Amino acid sequence: MVKEKQLRVIAIDGPAASGKSTIGYILAKKLGFLLLDTGCMYRAATLAALQAGVAVEDETAVTELAHSIDIDVQPPAGEGDGRQYTTLLNGQDVTWELRSPEVDAHVSLVSSYAGVRQEMVQRQRLFGLRGSVVMVGRDIGTVVMPDAPLKLYITATAEERARRRWRDRNQQGHNNNYEAILADVQRRDQFDSSRKHSPLRPADDAIVIDTSDLTPDEIVAEILVLVNGRLPRPT
Ligand code: C5P
Repeated sequence: MVKEKQLRVIAIDGPAASGKSTIGYILAKKLGFLLLDTGCMYRAATLAALQAGVAVEDETAVTELAHSIDIDVQPPAGEGDGRQYTTLLNGQDVTWELRSPEVDAHVSLVSSYAGVRQEMVQRQRLFGLRGSVVMVGRDIGTVVMPDAPLKLYITATAEERARRRWRDRNQQGHNNNYEAILADVQRRDQFDSSRKHSPLRPADDAIVIDTSDLTPDEIVAEILVLVNGRLPRPT
């Protein structure tokens, strides 16, 4: 049995659109680590419910569905469409569908269900055993990998996060309204921080980084200094 302390896992948590996924992606690339952005798993469970016509309010049905679906996260295979990773839901590439406003609107509810979380956390821990991993989410440092040797909590003001999401959506060709995005970011912050199971919060030993005035490359440079000496050598 591999102890978590021996794992080379960097845990990155933070609120919606804080830049944690971009930072996790750049960091994983620079270090040659695998990347698991755990939000995509909750998004995949949400999309599965929407596709199957299961009401997202039906906790029992959604939980059952979440246990039955196959989710695979892989490095991009040269698609050249700006993706940071590929997510397969029951073998289908749903990478971009997971980013739709419909999934955005329902994912917080689906991820608040204890049974859904238990299943996803178990899958995430197994992924962590694959070796050197950057794992991004809301509860990685607190629940999924509490013994990770390096825990980061990435944050930024709600306005800055909404501005970034607005810009990303524009680039993806979605119709966009800044005020609506800001309201959604604030709603999700509130929901994710106050939910009963695994609420969003920094682990006691996490290093908190505010990205409001820094570029992703500047932040990654800071993190690389922290990585040195903290992670065990590869075995
Ligand atoms: O990070 P992303 O925006 O893709 O996450 C989508 C949603 O999934 C979050 O708003 C949150 O409700 C949920 N989530 C979670 N725990 C995680 C990752 C995401 O509850 N570890």
